[in-house]
This record gives sequence, C-alpha cells and structure tokens, in this order.
Amino acid sequence: MTMADKPINFLLVDDLEENLLALEALLQREGLTCLKARSGEEALELLLAHEVALALLDVQMPGMDGFELAEFMRGSERARHIPIIFVTAGSADLQRRFRGYEAGAVDFIQKPIEPTALRSKANVFFDLHRQRLQIQAQRDELEAAAQALRRADRHKDSFLAVLAHELRNPVAALSGGLHLLNKDISPERSQDIRVRMDRMLTHLSHLVDDLLDVSRVSQGKISLKRERIELREILRSAIEASQHNLDAAGHRFVFEPPGQAIWLDADHTRLAQVVSNLLNNAAKYTPSGGVVTLSAQARDGVAEIKVTDTGIGIPPEMQSRIFEIFAQVEDHLAKAQGGLGIGLALVKQLVALHGGAISVESAGENMGSTFTVRIPAIADGDLA
Ligand code: ADP
Repeated sequence: MTMADKPINFLLVDDLEENLLALEALLQREGLTCLKARSGEEALELLLAHEVALALLDVQMPGMDGFELAEFMRGSERARHIPIIFVTAGSADLQRRFRGYEAGAVDFIQKPIEPTALRSKANVFFDLHRQRLQIQAQRDELEAAAQALRRADRHKDSFLAVLAHELRNPVAALSGGLHLLNKDISPERSQDIRVRMDRMLTHLSHLVDDLLDVSRVSQGKISLKRERIELREILRSAIEASQHNLDAAGHRFVFEPPGQAIWLDADHTRLAQVVSNLLNNAAKYTPSGGVVTLSAQARDGVAEIKVTDTGIGIPPEMQSRIFEIFAQVEDHLAKAQGGLGIGLALVKQLVALHGGAISVESAGENMGSTFTVRIPAIADGDLA
C-alpha cells in the first residue's frame, strides 16, 4: 500500500451517541476511517494517536465545548492544521467566538444538518488531504532519486580521481624509461628498461581496453560474435592468456577439463576473456605458492565453469557487491595491482550477454574463493 492509498481518518466529536452514529453514517465511505469521541478530552487523546484529515466538532457539549477543544487543537503542533467543521445549533453570531482562524481551515454547519451540504464540504477536505499525501509521497520519491544521483555522482568523482592516479603512474614510468633510453647506457640496462616499459604499456592498454569495453556494454554497443564452439577450446585460450600471471605468482595451476565435449553458442574471444579474467584475479588475490583450479562440466544443459583459488577470500558482506563496477574490497587494495574494480563488472556483463550468470562463494578471510560461471549449452539434439 502506498502512502497515498492509506485510509484517511476523520474525527467526530459529539456528546450524544446518536449524533455520532448519524454523522458517521452520513460521511462513511470506502477509504475513510471514522474516529468517534464523546467529549473534548477523548478527542484530544485520539488526536495524539492518529493523523486526522478533518474534525467535525459539536459546539455545545458539557465540559469542554467545541470552541475550547478547537483552541486546544490550534495550540498543538500535531493538530494545529487539521481543518475543522463546527456543528452549531445557534445563530451565526456565535461563530465570532472562535479565534483560531489563522491556523487552519474552519467552516460551520447549522443543525439540522443538510446531508448533501455536509458531504460535499467534507469531501473537499478529504480530497485535499489525499492530494497532500500524494505530494508527500512524490516528494519522498524525488528525494530518494536525488540522493541516488548524488551518490552516483560522488562515485564517479572518486573513480575519476583513482583513474587519473592509476594512469599517471605508468605514464610517468614510461616517460622516465624513455628518458633513460635516450641516454648513453649499457645494452643490458636498456634491454631491462625496455622489458619494464613493455610491461607497463601492456598494463595500460588492458586498463584502457577494459574501460572501453565497460562503456560499450553499458551503452549496449557490444555485440557477440557467436559461433558453435566447444568449451575446451575456450578454456585453452583462457589458460594461454593467463599462464604467465599464474606462473609469475608462483601458483600451482590445476586444470580439470570436462570429460565430454560441451558445445556452446558463444563468442570465443569474449568468453575466453571472462575465464582469463577470473584466472588473473585468482592469481592476483592468492599469496604466492597457492593453488588455482579451473574445472568445467555440463549439468542439466548448462556449462558450468569454476575457478577456485586458495587465496585471501572475500568477506560475506562484499560478495554481492564485487560485481558492481568500481567495487573493490577495501582490505585487498594492496593486492589489486593497479586494478580499478572494473574486471568483474565486465565479466558479469559478458556472461549475461551469453544468457548466463556468475556467482561467487568464499568462506571468508583467507579461505579462498570460487567463481562459477553458468552458460546454456547447445543440447545434443541440436547438434545434428
Ligand atoms: P580489480 O581486481 O581490478 O580490483 P575486479 O572487478 O576484478 O577489480 O575485482 C573486484 C574486487 O573483487 C577486487 O578488488 C577484489 O577485492 C575482489 N576479488 C576479485 N577476485 C577475487 C579473488 N579471486 N579472491 C579475492 N578477492 C577477489
């Protein structure tokens, strides 16, 4: 139920039960709740507990009369703006006794009550109240949307700062390297510098490629070059691309290929990129000498690819977030090696383009992680 369709309360105050019942019967309809009070004191109690769209006050009551009750209402922060209709038996003269006009709407109705007149007066107030609730709900929605935009904006700002920083380091290193190469240095030294510059350039190109890919995917500009392809071919390409990283980190790499051929309708390059990205992360976020396992199998018409590592793991509260763009586990930043938290967002998008899904499991800190990619396979019957 939205705020705008909540039942609207109205308050009837009269010392005579039969008047209360008659007024209730006159005004009651769907979407309205009637609150009844036999005295001013009872009415004030009800007003403390309920939000009220309209109060109908009998002026002549023993004890606190209708005007006194209205004065109390105007003096209270909560009840001050409630529109009041006084029900009077006396002459118009009496109306001057009430002084609280400046605060909220006030109207008078004479006894004997003319039903249509009262109903249409009351309806005006109910409609106003409903509109006010609607405006409030819209205002809250707008406020939430504005807040989300502000958050996204801050996110972008800090991302730009990180990006600039990450680009500056390799650029500075490259320009330093070039400067040295222009000097008179030994062939060994210059070879060493070239290797390092080459590595920097590769890192930089990957970063820029990932950034471009992400923006292309989010603009719907990446289209898959699908073909009928066997999963093992994709896995082999991925291993080839990541082998260097796995070796460099000193891990043992275990490959458990599927026992039978699994055919996919997939983009070879993109899916290999997905698996290679997961292997690179496994290598990156596992302390030297760990084990990284790549396995695959067919299950219920779905190709299931798993990358498991014995690394630093992912805290439970971060597991749903790491697929968001720019999301990184704070404590892992030292190990991110200049990563920007783009890789997994891209992986997730590429898997989704293949009609698949990715999930992560990790028992927590230093307990390793397992990433599972599921992609629909071509059923045997479709192969002929
Ligand atoms: P990046 O590695 O560039 O920071 P990713 O999008 O590839 O960005 O990964 C997002 C975050 O998820 C990483 O910063 C890291 O905290 C966490 N993460 C990814 N893979 C692993 C893994 N195998 N083990 C532990 N943490 C991981």
